[in-house]
Amino acid sequence: MERTTCCVVGGGPAGLMLGLLLARAGVEVTVLEKHGDFLRDFRGDTVHPSTLRLLDELGLGQRFAELPARRLDEVRMHIGDAVITLSDLRRIPGRHKYIAMVPQWDFLDLLAGAARQEPSFTLRMRTAVTGLRTDGGRVTGVRYAGPDGTSGEIAADLVVACDGRDSVVRAAAGLRPEYVDVPMDVWNVRVPAQGDGSQDGRVFMRARGRQFAVTMDRGAFYQTSYLIEKGTDRALRANDIQWFRDRVGELFDWGPEVTKAIGSWDDVKLLEVTMGHLRRWYRPGLLCIGDAAHIMSPTGGVGVNLAVQDAVAAARLLAEPLRRGGVGVRGLARVQRRRRLPAAVIQRMQLGEHETLLRPALEGRLDPERLPVPFRLLRRVPPLRTLAGYLGGVGIRPERAPAFARA
Ligand SMILES: Cc1cc2nc3c(=O)[nH]c(=O)nc-3n(C[C@H](O)[C@H](O)[C@H](O)COP(=O)(O)OP(=O)(O)OC[C@H]3O[C@@H](n4cnc5c(N)ncnc54)[C@H](O)[C@@H]3O)c2cc1C
Repeated sequence: MERTTCCVVGGGPAGLMLGLLLARAGVEVTVLEKHGDFLRDFRGDTVHPSTLRLLDELGLGQRFAELPARRLDEVRMHIGDAVITLSDLRRIPGRHKYIAMVPQWDFLDLLAGAARQEPSFTLRMRTAVTGLRTDGGRVTGVRYAGPDGTSGEIAADLVVACDGRDSVVRAAAGLRPEYVDVPMDVWNVRVPAQGDGSQDGRVFMRARGRQFAVTMDRGAFYQTSYLIEKGTDRALRANDIQWFRDRVGELFDWGPEVTKAIGSWDDVKLLEVTMGHLRRWYRPGLLCIGDAAHIMSPTGGVGVNLAVQDAVAAARLLAEPLRRGGVGVRGLARVQRRRRLPAAVIQRMQLGEHETLLRPALEGRLDPERLPVPFRLLRRVPPLRTLAGYLGGVGIRPERAPAFARA
């Protein structure tokens, strides 16, 4: 039987950051990732100021700065003809006054590369966890399906579920999230960037006539998230692709020379949005963090940062007990106590945005002349935009790198 001290399931932002930090603490840690690489699209390419500071503390800031990045310091929204600045990061405290837009695979490769330098770290790609080993009520390890039809079991003092929104580990442990109703799913498309400076900022949102979309300037292309009413993907795809080209073109004032980049429905990727949270993030021998514990909406683009922050808190609170030979439920409860509030506050803000902005926009009820109060305030009181920038970019309870992980 294979053995490790901490088995981390999922090599996303939460899992790789946790693996890196625990390995730097000298804890034997094995990260299992079901995919063969990190080359997946549309996973959320935002790296926030608090994560940027963390990378500096870990001695990875320089390497991160060498990655291809766009810097985002302001988010603006067009509703009809009105333009509102929703958040402004230029005056937030700290060295990094922007969100870095970096392909997530580059970010994950960087974390994995740094972790591989630690002798107690193992990363196994193409290894999908299929179930849990248990002894009495305690989780004692995982079962996995590896490359080329192999399978096996790994015993561990602690299993940490970092396997995201549809967490297999969470389900196998009998932990059920409480879901909230969300108004939308997302279609993701790319079109070539215009490069003519006509777009006002690097994230621009547009709401007009039952349509809502967000576009991020990624340099060579615009990455566009187009919202559709929840559950309507299949029905809408019955239309000719030209129908969609016309709609998104009208929304962003893109001509046919731009929208023709959307060749067919195959270029329109559906991402289903869910949102929810676990009441209890743990059971003996098992902890859930990141989206496995609190499933984030894409609204505000904050889930990656939150997952990273969970990992930092978990490493700080659990490294020592793991080195001493085991973590009890009290230690796991401390992680939840530390991280529940930041996750709950962000989810509450996301919920507010769903109900006051996105649902009315998709149902054609959003009146630019009578915007919801928070948006009117943002328009009139500029410091509130900085506060919004801080809450989105740094959040509450930002985590600092533990001393054992600093380089
Ligand atoms: C449409 C959409 C857009 C989003 N955009 C953004 C954004 O721009 N910015 C942002 O910050 N957040 C965004 N989010 C939220 C963000 O994606 C998540 O909050 C974040 O990825 C959570 O990180 P995580 O590490 O917990 O999980 P994930 O990033 O989901 O990583 C989980 C990892 O576990 C692996 N895995 C899954 N099952 C298994 C298994 N059984 N065995 C082994 N490995 C497994 C997966 O392959 C994956 O690598 C978006 C969400 C959606 C739905």
